[in-house]
Amino acid sequence: MSDKQVDVAIVGAGFSGLYMLHKLRQQGRAAIVFEVGDDVGGTWYWNRYPGARCDIESMEYSYSWDEALEQEWEWSERYSPQPEILDYINHVADRFDLRRDIRFSTRVESCVWDEAANRWTVTTDSGETVSARFVVMATGCLSSPNKPEFEGEVDFEGDTYLTGLWPHEGVDFTGQRVGVIGTGSSAIQSIPIIAREAASLTVFQRTPNYAIPAHNHPLDPDYVAQTKAEYRAIRDQAREEAAGFVGSKTEHEELATELPAGEVRDELEKRWARGGLTFMASYPDMGVSLKANDMAAEFIRDKIRDRVEDPETAELLCPTDYPAGAKRMCVDIDYYETFNQDHVDLVDINATPIERITARGVQTSDTEYAFDSIVFATGFDAMTGTLAKIDIRGRDGAQLSEKWDAGPLTYLGLMSAGFPNLFLVTGPQSPSVISNMIVSIEQHVEWIADCIDAVRDGVIEPLDQAESEWVDHTNLIASMTVYPYAKSWYLGDNIPGKPRIFMAYLGGVPEYRRMCDWVAENGYAGFAIDGTPANAKIDPMEFLEVDERLLPLIAEREAA
Ligand code: FAD
Ligand code: NAP
Repeated sequence: MSDKQVDVAIVGAGFSGLYMLHKLRQQGRAAIVFEVGDDVGGTWYWNRYPGARCDIESMEYSYSWDEALEQEWEWSERYSPQPEILDYINHVADRFDLRRDIRFSTRVESCVWDEAANRWTVTTDSGETVSARFVVMATGCLSSPNKPEFEGEVDFEGDTYLTGLWPHEGVDFTGQRVGVIGTGSSAIQSIPIIAREAASLTVFQRTPNYAIPAHNHPLDPDYVAQTKAEYRAIRDQAREEAAGFVGSKTEHEELATELPAGEVRDELEKRWARGGLTFMASYPDMGVSLKANDMAAEFIRDKIRDRVEDPETAELLCPTDYPAGAKRMCVDIDYYETFNQDHVDLVDINATPIERITARGVQTSDTEYAFDSIVFATGFDAMTGTLAKIDIRGRDGAQLSEKWDAGPLTYLGLMSAGFPNLFLVTGPQSPSVISNMIVSIEQHVEWIADCIDAVRDGVIEPLDQAESEWVDHTNLIASMTVYPYAKSWYLGDNIPGKPRIFMAYLGGVPEYRRMCDWVAENGYAGFAIDGTPANAKIDPMEFLEVDERLLPLIAEREAA
């Protein structure tokens, strides 16, 4: 017998879990949230490394579901820092009195479907069990930090840190010799700040990244007032743009490959001056044609060469073997300029691989580097890593992680067949990490809440065929783009042994929303409710406007 009965058990108290709780409460449902951390915030609770901040502008990287909240909260910067984002999440938790239904410092270890009762038994690390009709996994896409094993780590006499699990009290690197392993977004944000304090900083790079300047600045009160006055229209616009933020929709009709190179460069220059992630949303072929993409890639490389004084270091920092944007684009503040400081060095670990960690520091194939501290900015086991840590057992005792052995299988990224009444917020094969995640979180939370309302005391689950068609569709759309041409965490490449499959949906945020809405409006097409399959069936291609001009470019690329 379970200790407690609820309508819905939610796992995770980040942006997703908090809104899910609020939404369900509004519907009068009894819900409980379990959270490993001892407070709310998720990503913004764990990632307290120096320089952590959002890369979607704060006025858009915030909840849109409460107008008063939207009006009263004051963001200080274009891209606000982690402490401010965490303050905001805490404010939301207090304002909507959310904490009373959150069980902190509690890890969900298993969720087991009870076939007879049509309920989930959720068991926590304290041994407590809760019986829930529905479970919502609000466990995050980037919530399992990846800490690669290096031989000899136990011998290191200094301190080690992982960006995704940063000490709450902060770290003072003043006067220290610091090594940073990794050059992804977390490293790119933290390196300039660590360099300010450290006596010496050595960065170990496996793959250089493309980074666009943030041109971060304090928010101008007039701009804030105007944005707030137009907030409804801005939020609506964001939802209608490709990646869920204003400026993510391709601006020009023309193809870059059909324009004079000088014209494309002028456009990229304009976008560089604006800064941030809208850089790539210039021409429709940028994400499809390697030739078009290389115009952007070469433009960024030239900027790196301008920004970094030492030509050899500049070349090392230039990505050359994958398309721009195919790994998550980074947004930087003084990253490249940091390498112009005498006490900052870059080590190419492709040329001189790390052999082991020693008592003094890091031993590469040709040098031992002595450090007081080593920072691992080595990313996450993204999208599936956190779910795999929970023993989720659906019908007939089948385990979700076993089902996903060759890659995640979902319908719309919302549910997986054989796991009834178990929802995923921003699950694999939904736009999730390719979008402004708050927009995608809100869309999923609202869809899930409506679905729970429709199903009531029943059982909903995807049909096998709908799921396999959705996975095929997701893979097809990914294969039309340049994303598969990079080794990235989007494809699981950063985790040894992880199957290579593109884990997000690239068909666009508005198109995806319309598909989800259509599914709900058509009796939950592709799902069975209480064992009865819906009559309707979705054809996702009907929701996408395929630009015919891109097809020969894709064919040409594939042929090459
Ligand atoms: P999370 O914030 O990851 O929360 C999930 C929670 O679930 C965590 O608190 C975790 O402790 C808890 N949990 C997991 N497993 C269990 C379990 N078994 N039992 C109990 N609790 C569990 N996205 C953007 O769109 N724009 C940005 O600018 C941006 N910046 C980012 C910066 C960093 C450093 C990182 C790492 C990610 C960033 N992201 C960004 C993505 C970010 O993860 C999302 O925007 C968003 O914060 C995710 O919220 P969430 O609630 O879905 O997941
Ligand atoms: P990441 O992008 O995966 O970067 C990890 C880095 O560590 C990469 O440079 C990787 O090299 C390197 N690495 C991993 N394993 C290694 C090993 N065994 N040896 C040497 N190097 C190794 O992770 P992240 O920087 O934490 O960012 C993850 C995602 O979180 C981002 O893409 C973004 O979505 C989000 N994020 C956003 C922001 C923001 O700006 N708001 C900030 C941080 C994170 P390879 O590239 O060769 O694998």
